[in-house]
Amino acid sequence: MQQHPDFDLIIAGGGMVGLAQALALADSPLRVALLDQRPPAPAPSMTELNFDNRVSALTPASAEFLRELGVWEALLELRLCPYTRMEVWDADGTGAIRFDARDLHLDALGYLVENSLVTAVLAEALRNTQIECRFGAAIANLERDSAGWRLALSDGASLTCSLLIGADGGGSRVREWAGLKTRAWSYGHEALVTTVHTEQPHRATAWQCFMRTGPLAFLPLRPHGDGSQHYSSIVWSCEPALARELLALDQEQFAARCATAFERRLGAVEVLSPVQAFPLRQLHAIDYVAPNLALIGDAAHTIHPLAGQGVNLGLADVHSLSGVIRAALAQGRDYCSQQTLSRYQRERKAANLGMMLGMEGFKRLFGSDDLLLRWLRNEGLRLADSLTPLKQTLMRRATGL
Ligand SMILES: Cc1cc2nc3c(=O)[nH]c(=O)nc-3n(C[C@H](O)[C@H](O)[C@H](O)COP(=O)(O)OP(=O)(O)OC[C@H]3O[C@@H](n4cnc5c(N)ncnc54)[C@H](O)[C@@H]3O)c2cc1C
Repeated sequence: MQQHPDFDLIIAGGGMVGLAQALALADSPLRVALLDQRPPAPAPSMTELNFDNRVSALTPASAEFLRELGVWEALLELRLCPYTRMEVWDADGTGAIRFDARDLHLDALGYLVENSLVTAVLAEALRNTQIECRFGAAIANLERDSAGWRLALSDGASLTCSLLIGADGGGSRVREWAGLKTRAWSYGHEALVTTVHTEQPHRATAWQCFMRTGPLAFLPLRPHGDGSQHYSSIVWSCEPALARELLALDQEQFAARCATAFERRLGAVEVLSPVQAFPLRQLHAIDYVAPNLALIGDAAHTIHPLAGQGVNLGLADVHSLSGVIRAALAQGRDYCSQQTLSRYQRERKAANLGMMLGMEGFKRLFGSDDLLLRWLRNEGLRLADSLTPLKQTLMRRATGL
């Protein structure tokens, strides 16, 4: 019978959320390990316009949290693009809504950053801590143990811990092995992503055009040490038939389709990297916690990228879970107990579910052919654009403030 676990806490998964979780507990007295099946990410090279296709729009709330974790300055030194305006419109009508950071007295509504840069700065910061990071270590199985959990690794090793945090993404095996059920459904959308150069500058604006087949977003990028506003990341979420058609195009044809779908608001478009496709599904764990176990990030909830909220919700999970663990330690309570972990679930589940339902509603509203709904959404956008208090409420939600 296992009495002394190898670690107090193991984090399964070293994506943006798992790494942030490890760093958030780095100065706690707990013996923490982080495992990821992938090899460590190479140090980023900032000499070229080698933008990563995978980017995230971080809210000011997430930026603040990363600042608290001590990695924001490092991200600023690499490259990220603050955006001060957001413009959303209905391709089927005249409804539009515009947001401006000045209306909330903010410097920015958010920050576009490549995912690989976020993981690189978090992994680098972890090197200066006591946390044991094992990259290239896939978890192959999981069993309950008298002291918590026993993890079997693909290289034959086995590790035990008192508390296991599942941060292993949307397809979480930890969630499955722990028997935590989910509600999941396909959005019937695929997200096509690539980096583009545009004829017109993006003007530090995140643009999103809602079509019946799905939204197309142009998200501003800024090259390292350069003020150019001609680079954007695009996320084109569309039905599988359209995705197949678009993926069959060469880069020049794809660029032309993109520019047309986007009503040429940024002029001609040049595609700079191969287009990648990601199937989209919505998934929400019915429970985020089980005995000696908690799920965070995409392992607990996977959401449509149209709102740019996935990793922001994950970082809010990290903030909450670290808070309840620290509070338990400070008060001499068991940091693994169901009572402690349920507090985290209570804090995060309603917020995550609310955001997910909102996004589902948005997707359905804009996917509808119904004339009345089309009229309503255009009038709704126009009305929301003209009502300052409503607009400010929407902005506060989107910025996580
Ligand atoms: C096209 C697209 C655009 C998006 N845009 C935005 C945006 O603008 N803003 C935003 O907030 N969110 C966005 N998201 C969502 C965001 O990318 C995710 O929410 C985020 O990456 C989730 O991070 P995570 O760390 O929870 O999971 P992941 O990034 O999936 O990390 C999971 C980690 O676990 C590891 N792992 C898995 N299984 C095992 C195992 N058995 N053993 C060991 N390790 C394992 C994996 O190697 C991986 O490193 C977007 C998503 C998509 C698809």
